Amino acid sequence: MEAEQAPSDFMYPFETTPTCAAALDHQDPLESCRNAFLIPESMGKQQVYFLGNSLGLQPKQTRAQLETVLDQWANLGVEAFFHASPSWMGMHSLLKEQVALLAGALPSEVSIMNQLTTNIHLMLVSFYRPVGNRKKILIESKSFPSDQYALRSYLQHLGLDPDEIIVEVEPDYTGKAIGEEKIMNAIAQHADTLALVFMGGVNYYTGQLFNMQAIVQQAHQCGALVGFDLAHAIGNVRLELHAWDADFACWCSYKYLNAGPGAVAGVFIHERFHAEEKISRLAGWWGYREDRRFQMTDQFEATPDATGWQISTPSILQYACLHASLQTIENAGWDTMLQKQSLLIAWLNFLLGELPAVHFQCLTPEARGCQVSLYFAEKGRQVFDLLSEKGFMVDWREPNVIRLAPVPLYNTFSEIWLFYAAMKEIIKQVYSDNE
Ligand SMILES: *Cc1c(COP(=O)(O)O)cnc(C)c1O
Repeated sequence: MEAEQAPSDFMYPFETTPTCAAALDHQDPLESCRNAFLIPESMGKQQVYFLGNSLGLQPKQTRAQLETVLDQWANLGVEAFFHASPSWMGMHSLLKEQVALLAGALPSEVSIMNQLTTNIHLMLVSFYRPVGNRKKILIESKSFPSDQYALRSYLQHLGLDPDEIIVEVEPDYTGKAIGEEKIMNAIAQHADTLALVFMGGVNYYTGQLFNMQAIVQQAHQCGALVGFDLAHAIGNVRLELHAWDADFACWCSYKYLNAGPGAVAGVFIHERFHAEEKISRLAGWWGYREDRRFQMTDQFEATPDATGWQISTPSILQYACLHASLQTIENAGWDTMLQKQSLLIAWLNFLLGELPAVHFQCLTPEARGCQVSLYFAEKGRQVFDLLSEKGFMVDWREPNVIRLAPVPLYNTFSEIWLFYAAMKEIIKQVYSDNE
């Protein structure tokens, strides 16, 4: 789909009017994409869903594609692995191609498998390579709890003390974004002892987008490997994992990829590792060379690409969900999505700037994707509850942060307007008592 105008020409300067919101919607090349999704309703009224960063909405196609797999199973039984259309064996290649585009990877560098935290463990097996004094792992502070549990438990499994191994880069102020220099300095400071840098691409709490390219460069210069957790980055920000030279990455598919709760996840493994002899990995028959997988030999022989890291028979039902959702992204066009996203965020920022700023603060720096995190010094929970009552689905993080993420596939400029109007009223109501 081609926009009639480059989005950057839209409606500047913005105006604080619903007419401006409507005009932005009218010029939105993705306006009709919303119809491809099921929008949650409460008492017959569509909710304003700003939780695409938590669980992306269900594409209407998903149910049909699931039914197709159920029918294939019903009609063909096990033969569907080879004779369904597309064959179940061939589905991994289709998915890899589509996801590789979003990851900025070669299709051979992507494997669709398991779930995110499981994959973090598997990647640590291959890419945490402590040698001598070079044992440390650098992460961002406030990384997602599951990532921390994975790292710590994995280190304990190796007989290492996580407190000695893990180095956290802290922001200057707790809960705020971490300056790029701070990250670069931390890497340099531990240059001789660093085995691995493992960071989010976009931090789940602040919404900060890290400069992954610079992090890779710095870490490689210091002799460390680099992996990213892209749970909040894939389908949200532009990624160039191959060109940036990242070593590995993992993500889930139920946030910005809309593949449904517990959807099949994915990994990126740079091609330089594919043929590495004696690489450490936990193997299973689904990573065995596809051309000879069913010869059932004793000795494991890996598929010489990222597929070699697969372990088990994949869930074809999960594949169907992911395929349906990737189709909606393909139809919309990834570039068009990113263009709309920057306009959505500019519009949201503009309107937030029109609200009395004394009551809250935006934690999210300019480098970001869809998500905005708002910090409330007091009464944030009350604001959140009132938003929920009014039909806004946003997210509350203890003790004082509201996160919201308008996404280009199904959110509108008018919804952001409604959010602004509601916030204006709520702020008046909640904070008037102490004025
Ligand atoms: C959402 C998220 C997870 C969740 O992990 P699962 O294994 O999918 O439950 C992990 N890490 C980060 C950074 C996340 O944002």
